[in-house]
This record gives sequence, C-alpha cells and structure tokens, in this order.
Amino acid sequence: MAHHHLHVPKSLATVSISIIDTTVRMNNIPYKFFMDTPYPGYETFSTPCYVFLIHHVPTNTRLLYDLGVRKDWATNAHPNILKTMNHVGVQIEVEKDVAQILVDGGVKLQDIDAVVLSHHHFDHVGDPRTFPANAKLLVGPGFKERHLPGWPANPEDDHSTSDTYEGREIEELSFEEGDERVSEIGGFKALDYFGDGSFYILATPGHTASHLSALARTTCAKDGEESSFIFMAGDLVHTCLCFRPSETYPLPSTIASPTTTDPFTATNPSIQTSPLTHIHRLHTHPSGAHLAQTTPFSLVSAYEEDVPCSQANATALANIFDGNENVLTVYAHDESLLDVLDFFPKGTANEWKSKGWGERGHWRFLAELVKRLEGEGVDFGGGR
Ligand SMILES: [Zn+2]
Repeated sequence: MAHHHLHVPKSLATVSISIIDTTVRMNNIPYKFFMDTPYPGYETFSTPCYVFLIHHVPTNTRLLYDLGVRKDWATNAHPNILKTMNHVGVQIEVEKDVAQILVDGGVKLQDIDAVVLSHHHFDHVGDPRTFPANAKLLVGPGFKERHLPGWPANPEDDHSTSDTYEGREIEELSFEEGDERVSEIGGFKALDYFGDGSFYILATPGHTASHLSALARTTCAKDGEESSFIFMAGDLVHTCLCFRPSETYPLPSTIASPTTTDPFTATNPSIQTSPLTHIHRLHTHPSGAHLAQTTPFSLVSAYEEDVPCSQANATALANIFDGNENVLTVYAHDESLLDVLDFFPKGTANEWKSKGWGERGHWRFLAELVKRLEGEGVDFGGGR
C-alpha cells in the first residue's frame, strides 16, 4: 500500500449513531475458522453480534446496519446451518430480536426506512419479518442473483431462507463510476448514501462477494479538529488479531492491562508487551522485533470466500481505517468491546472519541493471550 492516509471528502454533516448489543451470544466458536495463525488461548471464543441504528436528521431517515441472529433461529434456520452449528458444537443464545430491542428503547418500527445487510449469513440478516413492509433491504452488488429467493424456494440454496426476503423491496446498491455519489475511500468503492458526506456504504467483497461495510461521520471537523468516524466492518474481519497492530498504530512497549475488568479505571496497571511480541508469527524474521510491533498478529483464515481479497481488506482496515485515531472500528463480533461501548438505548456513540472508547478498547483483544501466557508463568513486568 503506497500511503496510509484516510481521505474522506470534507463535510460538516454527521449522522446520529447508536450501537445495539443484539443480546446474541454465539458460544464455543472455533478460532481456526477466523484466523490463520493459531495463538495460545484462542481455541474457541464467544461473540456478540453488533447492529447499528443510524439516524440522518435532515431527512429524518433511519437505517439499520445488520440485524444479528433471529430469535427463532433454532426452528427456522436453513437446515445446513443447523447441521453445521450442531457438528461444530456452537451454541447460540438470543434473548430478543432487534425489532423488540428497538421498541423497548422507544423507537417506532415504522420509522425504520431501510436495513443495510452486510451479507447474507444468518447471523447478520436477523428476522426482517419483524419490521413493517415499508422497511426495504439494501444489499451489495450481485446479492439478488446469488442469494434470492433462498431456501426452500430454491432447494439448491445452502444458506439463505426465503422468508427473510419475502414481501418487501430489496435494493441492490450500485457502485458504478459515473454516479456522483460514488467515490473511493481507503481503496474501497464508497457510496455517499445521503449525498452530504455523513454516511458512506462501502463495497468490501472478500468474506462474501456482496459484503458491505459502512463509514459514519460521528463528529465533524471544527476548530482545527478533524472529523471522527465509526467504521462498521461487519464480517470484514473476525478478530482484532488480523488487523492489529499496524504500521500506523504500532504496539507500544507498555499498554494498560487488557485483563482488568473495568477498562475505565484510572488506576489500571500497565504491562510490558515484549512477551506478546515474542510469540508474534514474524518474531523470528531478521527485523522481527520491529515487525511484531507493526504487523497484525494473524493472517485471515482459509475459510473466507475470497482469501486474497479478504486479506487485502484486513490490511487496508489495519493501516488506513483502524490505524487512524479518528476512526473507531467495530466489526460485528468484537467481544473485546463489550466492556468499553455504551449500547442502545443508553445514548449515542457519536462522542466515542471524547469518551475514550478507541484508546481504551484498542488493545483489549490481547486479554485472552495475556491470561493464557500468565497461566504458563510468563511475567508481564507489572508495574505502573
Ligand atoms: Zn457473522
């Protein structure tokens, strides 16, 4: 990559954005599906499914990005999904559908204008039937051809269920050059959805061919400050190990302990990171010491639909978006942020930067690694 700067056209327009913890927990997921370099402590993991509520005030338009897992998944998911979950031993808990969470939080469902689906997987499409028919679905290029009408209407379909898509408009977004709303951000085709620079939908094929991410402007440039953004990565990555550390956001030699239960405690002890860099996959390289602080711990896994493309996405995320202190990365299943974020209906996420979420959350993913190594007697230096 030639340069690592995030170029987003200047704008004073923002959207109001809330992060929803959908109550979904997917437990006992094997890490091998999601990263190529296995590290101790990362055999299986348990993940949430984040969803975003986006409100564009000037047009009074409300969007959702993703819907998590439907509450009735165990009785209504595609048979192949049930078979796979059973075989792998994944356990899924869902307390509430997103529609119920919104209603409980005081949002009227008829006010939801559209749902952006990052991709067709069952842990992202949720249950659109719980929304009035006026809410349309926004999907990525090629989605309709690949995933509609779904099973059982198409007996050959191995993942999508038909009832998810029935009875509402499905708009396939186009990222064709010539549309003045289409540009390129961080190497990704970007659609300026409201035409004012507040919210971009990004074409990010790799995990699946029609995968979509999104970039919301959370605060605008003023008084010499730069705009801040939230990058909704969906399943562009599945673990922070695949995009941290990076050249633009290297691992310091000491960090606040990622294992403390409250990331906001001022008295957090710090730990030395050298035991972590010593187990980095590139540590034995001639410039290993440097690379271990500036290269992600892991590569993406072989289970991605397009592995090279998915790897390029993770690299762009690392250097251009996540490496920028004005961008908060939230991928769908980042369990390391559960203690850091405030979730809907508790306020919006727009002030994430002044609340310190980026800083405090950045290295939390190392907790499992640190705990495991500590269990093996490795000394992280302690101290303050
Ligand atoms: Zn997912």
